This record gives sequence, structure tokens and C-alpha cells, in this order.
Amino acid sequence: MSARERCDVLVVGGGPAGSTVAALLAERGWRVVVLEKERHPRFHIGESLLPHNLPILERLGVLDAVHAIGMKKPGADFTAEMEVRGHHKFQFSFALDRSLPFAYEVRRSEFDHLLLKNSAAKGATVLEGVRVTGVEFPAGADPEARAVDEQGRETLWSCRYFVDASGRDTLLARKFGLKRKNPHHASAALFGHFLNVERRPGEDAGSISVYWFEHGWFWMIPLKDGTMSVGAVCRPEYLKQRRTSPAEYLRQTIALAPAEMRARMRDAVLVDGEARATGNYSYTSSRMRGERYVLVGDAYAFVDPVFSSGVMLGMNSGVLGAEAIDAWLRGEPGAEARFRHLERMVRRGVETFSWFIWRFNSPGMRTLMLHPGNPFRVQEAVISLLAGDVFRDIGARSRFWLFRFFYVMFSLKYPRESFRLWLARVRNSRVRFTGGTTPLDAEG
Ligand SMILES: Cc1cc2nc3c(=O)[nH]c(=O)nc-3n(C[C@H](O)[C@H](O)[C@H](O)COP(=O)(O)OP(=O)(O)OC[C@H]3O[C@@H](n4cnc5c(N)ncnc54)[C@H](O)[C@@H]3O)c2cc1C
Repeated sequence: MSARERCDVLVVGGGPAGSTVAALLAERGWRVVVLEKERHPRFHIGESLLPHNLPILERLGVLDAVHAIGMKKPGADFTAEMEVRGHHKFQFSFALDRSLPFAYEVRRSEFDHLLLKNSAAKGATVLEGVRVTGVEFPAGADPEARAVDEQGRETLWSCRYFVDASGRDTLLARKFGLKRKNPHHASAALFGHFLNVERRPGEDAGSISVYWFEHGWFWMIPLKDGTMSVGAVCRPEYLKQRRTSPAEYLRQTIALAPAEMRARMRDAVLVDGEARATGNYSYTSSRMRGERYVLVGDAYAFVDPVFSSGVMLGMNSGVLGAEAIDAWLRGEPGAEARFRHLERMVRRGVETFSWFIWRFNSPGMRTLMLHPGNPFRVQEAVISLLAGDVFRDIGARSRFWLFRFFYVMFSLKYPRESFRLWLARVRNSRVRFTGGTTPLDAEG
């Protein structure tokens, strides 16, 4: 016999998106329950935040706590030794709006735990080690979800509103067949934490470094305790060639990095000798909501992490989702408009970052990132967008068009490389390489 429970809002997933919705709705007095299949603190990849995360963290009341665990990130630097060579440092203090000149890098185990505890402190009931195994939306009645705890006990939850914040598990997108793999962008990642990696000097010690190489690009994310998170985002066809352990393949891949990165890593030691991998991962869902449910964060869409946008986009959808759900629960006539606003903003965020991401490995983009000028303040506008300032227009959007024009002009300089890149994209969109966000190993 299953137990039966009831609440106003049932949130599946206690990652950043789920914790944001839960905290904001519990704060408004609704009976909110979060079901999380894991026990926090748990490992999660995605450690680099954006400046426009900060107002959300402030609104949740956790900015000081994040400051205590976070490494201050003033910007990002990019390096390549390919057909376009160079190094350039972008500073968030050079954005059009200079009021948010930095972000943080965080260990996600600490950050996600902190956010989840905050939602409990605001009044949400958080149940960890509880996995949702199924959900039904009977017409005109309350949604019902089946959940199983670690002892195998089953509970049937009914709620007035259902939030899917299940991340890349994509609970509802799978159930309804909404998931659309991105045909333009297939990539997969291999990553680990290292000790003894050289940091940038002085103020730049917290900058994220990005290095292009022949199979994709690397990230180096400095964490507060001295560890460096290092990952390679590669075309799946490269990762499928792996015949050794993920740790050994990561080492072999780092050996292909630009000289500067190899020099910074010459004494590096992989923590616990462990590396992880995750598979082809860009997708969006064809729908963000339905009768009494909404998809937030990665449960709706996931884009390549090169510009560190995932947590900010997920938490922002959590904020807008909470506002719409609150209006719906109150029976306010404006609820529908709020849901439409949520859809517009989430799509705008995903599309803006996607534009940069799809072109990231092209010589035209490398030219613009490594040798940017600032005519008509275009560079400031691009920094604003990449800082997460994508939901309002303070002059960044019109300049973004100019940036696109420059991109086309520079791409024309490299017709052969641009064509090769297009061919690789088409080939790779067919290569299958699977894996979850947190597995120890990847299936080849
Ligand atoms: C290789 C890689 C690098 C990345 N780097 C960055 C980065 O530097 N910066 C950045 O901002 N983003 C990065 N991201 C993206 C970022 O990790 C995600 O966008 C972010 O975690 C999304 O938050 P979320 O709350 O939607 O999902 P998640 O953080 O994945 O949380 C979902 C939660 O739901 C739980 N869950 C799932 N299914 C169920 C179920 N059936 N029942 C109960 N619980 C369930 C999971 O256990 C999990 O805790 C990266 C992603 C990858 C793959």
C-alpha cells in the first residue's frame, strides 16, 4: 500500500532551479515539497557562475553565504594556438552596465546544498533520497506523482501545481517526448579536479581560462580551496575513440592542449585519480509548460557550458516560474501573462547563448574573441550579454547585430576552415555518446 500525501506545489529536483522555485514559493506561504533523489552534498559539474546570478542570490538571501564558499571571478581569458592565435582577457567590469563587475566559482556540492537548505529554511519540506518514478496529469484534477524512498517505500503525492526541475534527467520531456537534440551542436565533456595547477597572477587568480584545441576547448576553473576544475568539451567522435580510463584519457587530452595550459598543469595531480565524462548534451524541449506543470532549468533546455550560463539560466527560470505559479495559485487573471513572460525570457536566454556557442569553435569567432576591438561599444555589449544581461535591453541587443555582422565578415576570411567545421558538425550530430551529469564513467 502506498502512503498518500498532499501539497500545493511539488518540485522534483533539488538543484539550483528547483531550490529557487521552492524557496520563493515557500516564502509566500505555499506548502511546497521538494523531492530529491540524491543526498546533498552531492557532486555536480558546473562550477562557474555569471555576474547576473548575483541579484538572484541576493533575492534568495544567500549572497553572503555564497561569498564565503566562492572564488571571486572577475572575468574570463581565452587562448588559441591554431589558424588564429592569441590571448585575450575579458573583464566583467567592462560591461555596458558596470554595477556587477564579478561573479563566483563554487563547488557545486556546497553551492547546491546551501540553496537546498535555504529553501527548507524558507519553509519548504525537503525530502532527500526520494526519487519520482512517474507522474500523471488527469484532466481537470490535481497532478499525481509516484515517489520511492531509499527503503523502497512508495508515496503518492498529489499537488495543485507540479514543477519539473529534474535537470538533465528531463522527467517530463522524456515522458511527453518533448526533447529535441540540438542538430547544430553535439559535444561531450571529460573533466576532473586537480591540485598544483598554476593560477593567473594577482587580481586575475579567479578568472576562468578557456583554451581552444583541435578537438574542442578546455576550461580551467579555479576553486576557493586551491583546487582547479579542468575539463575538455570535445566532439563526440573524439571521445568515442577512448580506450583507456576517463582519467587516463583526460591526461592524454590535456597533452594536446596549447603550450601555456600544459605549462600551467605540469605539476598537476588529479584528485583521487578520478575523472568523469558526460555525453552529447545540447537539447531543448518543444514545450515549457502544460496544464498544471512547468519545466525549469535543465529540465527544459541545456546548452553547452562554454559561457557558464546554465546555473544562471536555470535559477532565472526558477524566479520567473515561481512568480507565475504564485499568480496561478492565487487565481489571478494575470497568471497566463506571467507564464508567457517566463517562456519568452527563457527562450531569449537560451537563444542568445546558443548563438555564441554554436559558432564558438569557428575561426571567425576565435578572431573576434582573441582580437576584439570596441567600435560602437560592441565589445562592452558582448561582455554584458555573456555576463548574463540578456533579459533587458540596455543597448546590448542592437550592438549584438553589429557583432554578428563582424562575425560573418571574419568567417569569410577562412572559407576552408568554416566549411570543415560545418562538415564536422553534421557528422557529429549523428554520433551517439551517452552518460549522465554525475556518472563515474561514460559509455563509449
Ligand atoms: C560538463 C558540464 C559543465 C558545466 N559547466 C557549467 C558552468 O561552468 N557554469 C554553469 O552555470 N553551468 C554549467 N553547466 C550546466 C549546469 O550544471 C546546469 O545548467 C545546472 O546544474 C542546471 O540546474 P538544474 O537545477 O536545472 O539541474 P541540476 O542541477 O542537474 O539538478 C537537478 C536535480 O534533480 C534531481 N533529480 C533528477 N531526477 C529526479 C527524480 N526523478 N526524482 C527526484 N530528483 C531527481 C537530481 O538529483 C538533481 O539534484 C555544466 C554542465 C555540464 C554537463
